[in-house]
Order: sequence, then structure tokens, then C-alpha cells
Amino acid sequence: MLKEMKDNEFIALDFETTGLDRQNDDIIEVGLAHFRDGLLVETYSSFVYTEKEIPLNVRNITGISNDTLEHAPKIDAILHEIAEFIGNYPLVAHNASFDMAFLMKHLPGIKNSVVDTLILARILLPQEHYFSLGKLADAFGITNKRAHSALYDAIACGELFLKLLPLADDIREEEWDILLKTEDYNPCGLGVLYKMKTDGGKIPLNLSSYYISGNSSEWQGKTNLGEIFSKDGYVGKMLRSFENRNEQLRLAKDIHDAFERGEFLITEAGTGTGKTFAYLFPAIDFALKNNERVIISTQTKSLQNQLFYKDLPFVFTYFNGIPSAQILKGRGNYLCLLKWADLLDNLPILSREEVAIIQKLTIWRFRTKSGDIEELGNINLEREGYLWQKLKCDDFFCLNQNCPFYNECYFKNARRNAKSANIVIINHSLLFSDAANGNLILGEYDRLIIDEAHNIEKTATRNIGITLTQKEFDYVFNSFAQKKSIFIKGISHFLKKNEIKLISAISSDIISRMSYVMSLAKEKYEQMDVFRSVKYNLLEDLVKRMEESVEPLNTSFNRLLEHLEKIGKRLENEEENDMAATIEGKRREIEEIQFKINSLFSPYDENYCYLLETESRTKNVKFSSLPIYVGDILGEMLFNKIKTLITTSGTIAIDGDFSYFMNRTGLARFKEQSLMQLYSSPFDYNAQLKTAICEFIKDPGDPQFYNDTTPVIKAIIQAIPKKTMILTTSYTMLNTIYNNILPFSEELGIQVFAQGISGSRTKIIENFKSSHQGLLIGTDTFWEGIDLPGKFLEVLIIPKLPFPAPNDPIIESRINKIRENGNNPFDQYMVPEMILKLKQGIGRLIRTTYDNGYLFILDSRIYRRNYGKRVLDEIPGKEYRLSSYYLLSQYLREVSNE
Ligand code: SF4
Repeated sequence: MLKEMKDNEFIALDFETTGLDRQNDDIIEVGLAHFRDGLLVETYSSFVYTEKEIPLNVRNITGISNDTLEHAPKIDAILHEIAEFIGNYPLVAHNASFDMAFLMKHLPGIKNSVVDTLILARILLPQEHYFSLGKLADAFGITNKRAHSALYDAIACGELFLKLLPLADDIREEEWDILLKTEDYNPCGLGVLYKMKTDGGKIPLNLSSYYISGNSSEWQGKTNLGEIFSKDGYVGKMLRSFENRNEQLRLAKDIHDAFERGEFLITEAGTGTGKTFAYLFPAIDFALKNNERVIISTQTKSLQNQLFYKDLPFVFTYFNGIPSAQILKGRGNYLCLLKWADLLDNLPILSREEVAIIQKLTIWRFRTKSGDIEELGNINLEREGYLWQKLKCDDFFCLNQNCPFYNECYFKNARRNAKSANIVIINHSLLFSDAANGNLILGEYDRLIIDEAHNIEKTATRNIGITLTQKEFDYVFNSFAQKKSIFIKGISHFLKKNEIKLISAISSDIISRMSYVMSLAKEKYEQMDVFRSVKYNLLEDLVKRMEESVEPLNTSFNRLLEHLEKIGKRLENEEENDMAATIEGKRREIEEIQFKINSLFSPYDENYCYLLETESRTKNVKFSSLPIYVGDILGEMLFNKIKTLITTSGTIAIDGDFSYFMNRTGLARFKEQSLMQLYSSPFDYNAQLKTAICEFIKDPGDPQFYNDTTPVIKAIIQAIPKKTMILTTSYTMLNTIYNNILPFSEELGIQVFAQGISGSRTKIIENFKSSHQGLLIGTDTFWEGIDLPGKFLEVLIIPKLPFPAPNDPIIESRINKIRENGNNPFDQYMVPEMILKLKQGIGRLIRTTYDNGYLFILDSRIYRRNYGKRVLDEIPGKEYRLSSYYLLSQYLREVSNE
């Protein structure tokens, strides 16, 4: 309870309005709640008359119609009552800037202090993901009798404030210092909060360590895989859900043998095999016995986190806590403490959004052990990623040993630990980019496990090519050209005036030449109707401008490098060795940019695809040269250096054959030392999955396709009232299906969640899971990495076979290359890619031995084209061939009775 709160009274307020625009919209309901000493003592509420037509969405949400307001007073008639009620008390509102904008339109003179519970919650609950009043009220057990009624929302907001208040007692002095400073630039009531004293509470934070220490020299034991995976063995005793699976033990033994013999084991293990434990036990056993490191790489960060925070601690108990492990992500995941300090120094010139980010990070920054942004829920990287750019570690900004925070640096510490840990958990982007950069981050290693191995080609292509972004260029050169940059501020005492002048003049010359190229690139990109990226080596005038720029750019680069070298030597002689090292670091960055410009601007290599893209938010340009075929490069820079390689996936073989995967990844070259094995899933697909294929629907290329599929989808969701997902192959298809079925679904009370329309991926999945009968429409990333067991997903609809998009420049280049080599790209690339993606998509449906599911494929080409048989062979479950709409109706009648 509030004990010695100077202002121990406040008014919580909420308005319902006709819309979000304070100039043109009207208040239609006012709710005020007066709290004293933690108790609600008085309320005020009133409907407010408006002449505006109340929009449908507002009527639906609030239940207020123009009829409701027919006899309500106008706002001017109740302003004196509102002013009297709120007096001089602090005002508390959720998303206060919205309510205050409406209030101040009518009462412009009010000077009350304002507390925003939305911003407070984001500061005090850094790991929370959802901050709507409803979600926060639920999280704190606050009952809101009528959400979206102004008075009840005001009361819930006041009660939320009372719940947040005690947490503020846990804010430490160094955190208050920053938060109170930010209050001037993004006010949210922190000053009011600072004065309030309560019984105190603890900010709920669950911050994990990024490193598990151990002492491998103490390991004396023997690892008995047969005992571990038997029915009454170690895993069975520890995990109630464990099911004894022969295939899991066989896989674990094969992995053990591959480690012992120094061989490659290429595996496809069906869903449910239990591959994670099957590789963790033998990998740890080998690492301990031989005092070696095993690197484990996953495609997704979510699997990386699951392995480190959930699976490893469990497996480590078997080894008596002796092994050590480190989770390591790319630099961009970690907070850079130097950038943080720099931002705090510059509060007056930051935007309000930047200050809001500082507020959200403050408490976490002083308590996190990892510095990994993914620990936070209150930062939405999809929306706020551009602000994170200003705070994350990055190669081009880092001062290394000259950084005052070097010893505390989250990324450097993680990297140091990774060099000695028994197990290092990384992701594929880091694996391939590090291999391309000579193992600068991971160092040398001999043993590698690649999980989710079906993503090797896709992720390697993006990470081993050369990329130059405008942002990267700006980072390096703005630090020279801007007098106030941290770099210039840091080195200015050590340089002569003419030296600073000279390097900033040469930098300005380089910047203007690059802007000349980049502005044309941007113009070209905007003129073209492109599939995310365009092959810029086909744009004649751009290529001409790039080629013309190379020589003068090289002249300026060389001059700059020469001057920096001279300055570095002079500083060394003056025994300013730290500064000399900083200058040398900058020299290397500049050399790298010069190397990239020379590689990307001319001449062009036919084995690479040259792409021009723009960043979605800033529209800054990005040039890349990506290898059309990664196999040879991977073979040389990665697999050739490895003694033991284990790859696992649920989808890399086609009809039991691994050739396609081996060829695309370059592993075919290592066939002699590789064992390829299939491990079957424990699921009984014939009993658990019913697969209906609609033969009567026209080809996806036929204009009639959507006319055929829309009634089919409607019939399915009406007949089977279970959670359903539709996996589409493009945003165009997703939007068409969404618009065609939305009104119908709403009539049936089915909530529809669509990628790109209903929020972030995480939010869509969460909302879909908690919906009664949701319908999720996804494309792209929804085809894999989603785990929706049991009732969370029972029906899957695939309207079209997922062939790669032939207008994607990299796909187009691969097709051309295969054709040039005298092969058939459709049979040898498009069909296998489609089959593997289809298998991934179908894999979303049956996740446990208790699941049952209904799969509908609406692409009739399966029965009409030559490749259909190859596809049918890969589709699990009992097949129902539906040759007419009548048969579909009959089938739906049958399954709806099950
Ligand atoms: S060492 Fe580099 S990454 Fe780490 S805090 Fe300093 S500048 Fe940032």
C-alpha cells in the first residue's frame, strides 16, 4: 500500500472516441476514477454527444452507437465537471499521450502531472511481450468488468498503476539516474513515481547466464547410450513424457561412431525421433573424453535458445555438471556498452523514439548477464530494429582493446568463453559468415553438428557472399567526416590539425563519389517492378557509373590509407600505442570497404549473382554478390577442415535418396567418408493423418483457380471447426485468400490471423493458439519452425505446391546455370526444392504420437503432371483422391462426424 506518498491521490482517466485523430475526432465517453491511499473512492462517467457518424469498428469495440448518444450532453456542457473532478491531482492513463491530446484540446490550460502506465509497464516489465491494458490487467489478476467502457478501463488503469508502483522500489540508483534524465525528453510520470514510496516489490526478471562453466578434466565416467535411451534408463526416469524409440538409440549410436571414427554422418530423422538428445549425449561424451570442442549449429535462434536453456542443462545433469557450454550469436544480438554510453551523452539531440528505447532498456542493461537483446519482450525488433542498430555491437564501430568497456563487453566475453567451452551453440548465419571470414569468431574446430540442415544452401548463400550496405559505408566514413563523431572526439588530442583536416577532406571526397553511385542505384531500384531484388549487373547505366567510380575511389582510398599508416607510425614512435592500434583498426575497416567496392563494382563473375536491394524501412541501398552455387565454397572453407560432421533434418532426402542434398551443399565430394542414414518417425501416419487431394480444382496458373479454391476453403473451415492453417506460396495469394474468406469466417465466428496483416509472427502464433477456432494464413517463414501440437493445429490446407519463385534473381541464376550445364532445371532443381518444402509444411501438422490431423492439398497438378508421382510418394497419411466437389462434400460430412 501507499505509505508516504506525497501526492497519495490520483485520477485515472480514459476516453472512448470516434477515432485516433485528436483534431477531427470526438470524445464519445469519459471515465474518471479517483484513487486515494490505494483505494477507489469516487468515479465520474458520462457519454458525450457527437454529430459524427460513429465508425463500425468503434461501435463493435465499445458498443456505443449514435443512438446511445442521442440524449447525451455535449462535451462543452460537462467540461467544468471534468475539470473539477481532476483538480490538481496527478493523472494516470494507459497510452496517456492519446487521452491527454483529447483532454487538452478541450482544457488547454491544465498543468497536472501525467503518468503513462503503458510506458511504465514497458520500463518495469522488460521481458513482457504484450502491453495492452487488457493483457496487463490479466497478467496482474485485475478484473475489468467491461473492457472498452471508459469508466471500467479507467478503473483498471488505476489498479494497474497500483500494481506497478511497488516494482519501482526495486529500481536502483544508477537506473534512476538514467530514467529521470530521460523524463525530460519522453515524459511518462517517472518523476511522480520517484516520489512515491510503497512496501516495495521485485521487478520480475528472468535473466539467464549465457555460459555454463565446467571442468572437463574431472570426467572419469562412461557413457552408456543403451542405458540412457532404454525404457527404464536415464532419460526415461527423468522425463515422464519419454517414449522408448529404437530409432533414437540407433541414431545416437551412429553419431557416437561418427565421432569416434572422425566421419561424416548425414541423417534424415522424421519428426518425433528425438534427434536432439540423440546427438547431445554422444557429442558431450566425445568432447569430455577428448577435451575437444563440439560446435552445434541451428537455423533458428529459437532452437538455439531451446538447446542451450532447456536441453543442455537436462543432459548436463547426466554428466554431473562437468561440461562447459556457451551460446554464441552474431554480434548484432548484443548491446554495445560504448554506444549505450554515447547515446546517454546525447539525450538532448535524440528523437523521442530513441529516448523511449533507452527507457525500455535501462533496467535490463544493469542486470543482464548476456547483453542479448532476445532476452527482452518489450522491444519489437521487427518495428524498432532500426533503433537497435544504434545500440548493437558491430564490427565497424568497435574500438576493441581501446574501448573503455572492453572487459565488460558482452560479445567479447561470449566469444572468449566460446573458444574454451566443450559445447558451443551457434546459428547457421554465424557458422557460414565466420567460415567465410577465416574463423575469426569461433577459431579453429574439428567437430560440427548442423541441425535443421535443410537450410544450409539458403543460409550459406546469404552469408558467404560479399555485401556492402549504405549503412556500413556510412558508419565507417561518417566517423571520419563528422567532427563530432566518437572516433574523431577520441583521436583529436593525438592528431595535428592538418591531419584531421586532410583525412576528413579525403573522406568527404569518397562519400560524395559513393553517394553519386548510390543515388542512381536507388533511383533505378525504385523505377523497377522487382521481386525484392534486382540483378544490377544488367543495368547498363548503373554499371557504367560504378565502373567509372572505381579508379578515383581507389585513388582516394589509397591516399587515406597512406595517411593513416603514417599517423599510426608517428603515434607508435611517440609511444601512443593504444591510439596507434585504434588507427590500425580503422585502416582495416577502410581496406575492407575498398575490397568490397572493387569486388562489387567490376568486373563480374558468371558464378555470382549481383543483387541490388533496398532496406525496407530506410530504403538505403545494399549491393551483394552471392554465389549461385555454394557447394564448392562450402566444401573448401568448411567441410574440408572438419573431422566429424553430423547433419540432421526431417527433410533432406527425396524418396530415401540423399543425392540432391549432397550435391547442393558440396558434401558429395566427401561421399567416401560419409554415411547417409534415414531414421523413421515413430508416428503412425496412416492412422493419424488423412490427406485429401482435390483433383477437380483448376491449375494454379488458370484464372479460375481462386474461384475454385475459395468455396473449397469455406467448406473445409465450416465442416471442421478446428484450428486451421493455410500455407500459401506468396503474399499475393495470401492477400487474395484473406480477402475472399474474411467476411465468411467472421460470420462463423472464426478469428482470422494473416501474416503481414495481424502483427508480428510471434504475436500471430500466440493469438492463434489462444483463439477458440482460429484460422492462420501464412507464407514464407510459416512453412517451418512452428510447433503447434495437438489441438493447436488440426487442419492444414495447402492451396498450391510450393515451387521456388522463378523470378527470384538467385533462383533464376541457378536455373540458368543448371541449363547451361546441359541439365533440366525443372526436374533437377525446382521439383526437389518444392518436395522438400512441401514435406516441411506438412510436418507442422503431426507433432506427437497423440496428434490427429486433416491435410488438404488443392493443387490438382499432383495427378496431372509427370512429377506428381514423386510428390505423392512423399506425402504421408491415408490418401483421399477427390475428383469432384460432390466427393469433397461427402468427405467433409464424414470427417465432421468423427
Ligand atoms: S568492445 Fe566493441 S562491441 Fe564491446 S562495448 Fe566496446 S565498442 Fe562495443
